[in-house]
Amino acid sequence: TSSHGTGPFIAAIDQGTTSSRCIVFDVDGRIVAVDQKEHRQIFPKPGWVEHDAKEIWTNVQEVVANAIEKAGITKADVLAIGITNQRETTMLWDKKTGEPVHNAIVWQDTRTSSLVKELGRNVGQDRFRRDTGLPLATYFAGPKARWLLDNVEGLRERAENGDILFGTMDTWVIWNLTGGVDGGVHVTDVTNASRTMLMRLDTLEWDPKICNSIGVPMAMLPKIRSSSEVYGTAKGGPLNGIPVASALGDQQAALFGQCCFAEGEAKSTYGTGTFMLMNTAHKPVNSYNGLLTTVGYRIGDEPAVYALEGAIAVTGALVQWMRDQLGLINSAPEIETLASSVEDNGGAYFVPAFSGLFAPHWDSAARGVIAGLTSYVTKAHIARAVLEATAWQTREISDAMTKDSKVELTSLKVDGGMTANNLLMQTLSNVLDAPVVRPMVAETTCLGAAYAAGLAVGFWPDTDALRANWRRAAEWTPDMDPAERDREYKKWLKAVERTKAWVD
Ligand code: ADP
Repeated sequence: TSSHGTGPFIAAIDQGTTSSRCIVFDVDGRIVAVDQKEHRQIFPKPGWVEHDAKEIWTNVQEVVANAIEKAGITKADVLAIGITNQRETTMLWDKKTGEPVHNAIVWQDTRTSSLVKELGRNVGQDRFRRDTGLPLATYFAGPKARWLLDNVEGLRERAENGDILFGTMDTWVIWNLTGGVDGGVHVTDVTNASRTMLMRLDTLEWDPKICNSIGVPMAMLPKIRSSSEVYGTAKGGPLNGIPVASALGDQQAALFGQCCFAEGEAKSTYGTGTFMLMNTAHKPVNSYNGLLTTVGYRIGDEPAVYALEGAIAVTGALVQWMRDQLGLINSAPEIETLASSVEDNGGAYFVPAFSGLFAPHWDSAARGVIAGLTSYVTKAHIARAVLEATAWQTREISDAMTKDSKVELTSLKVDGGMTANNLLMQTLSNVLDAPVVRPMVAETTCLGAAYAAGLAVGFWPDTDALRANWRRAAEWTPDMDPAERDREYKKWLKAVERTKAWVD
């Protein structure tokens, strides 16, 4: 007996930072089957992070096949495939052989720091901000492509000859899904393109002048399409012939999956990093407080919807670091048990500026600190400081968002792997002084990709039909003395100052 109907269904692929997964959804937005597989994190040097794109594509094929099998369905039951992906992670591959020219450079990677500094020399960090919505930072894809062209022998010439294709992971997955060397379509969507620093927010086209300044030949760039339309059909594999009908960067997909379709609605996703996005309707809002202006989504020919975004590089990744690099816990959920064994942080504050500081500081030269250490501090206090770091970083973003949008945060929709942590969610509500709510389907990233694909093929009629699927699963309300909150926030900000300008 199954809890879902007989279909049809939508399959969503989430090519994430730590893993790739495939989820099959029914018309009520409920999960029918999931499969997931982690891939290797490659750290060749301090500050460098790479993925093997071939390994990722193999994993994607495997999780799709497994999810279809677990759902007990065939491709006849699947109406469309949606794609969502880790954003900014950049790769170049040979058009004729399909071979990547190098490992993919992951969004957290800081190897472009001197290039980015050079690009901003005399002009400053905001050189391309008005056109692209982004400050110069190691985070974005365009300069990563430039690094590859400068550092892989003979590559620039091959690129200028049109033999090389550029892609973020959406582009790589769609190209392979639709046939690869055998006629694969070379496309990206507006949300992923908005993270390259090469696309104009007003026209949603590549900007030749910016491409030239950053040193990226336009010949290798994919065609920019909307987030919800049929790009092509899958060729081979268990979904052969099924339309590939959506692509959204993971954070924009979560915004969509959380049904933040109205101006002022916001969500925050707690995974490897944390990303708060607020819908600003059809107008790109310029930030004066260190946020990014980005494309939220675009459905077919409708006007694009923009968003303000606060990006935090390291949140769940700090929990992983506690587990893998320090060995203080054996699994991510164990951090809650450890942190709950003490009343407070014992005076310790952990600012995980491992990849510099993202919003609202944008300091590529910052590096992590644990401040306030005394011999009183135990590993349990550190565990607590680790969780509080996620909460305080969110508070900094939410303050910036209030300043830019003039809208007070009345409640926050959350999702992502870290929302399983009750202590963290309560701490978050406490430091934000606002309710935190989590929907029934916590897999909002995949859900958003499924929604966008389903809209493109008429599985759902409109966004109102999607809203009807949103149901609250849990809510946390503030329970902290305001004077204590202020004291702790000041301490946190003091610790943040100590991370800055560390690298020369
Ligand atoms: P991503 O999509 O970025 O790969 P996920 O949403 O799958 O991330 O979340 C995984 C992250 O959440 C990991 O960094 C992990 O350390 C963290 N995480 C998972 N469970 C918990 C937990 N119970 N408490 C704190 N952090 C957790």
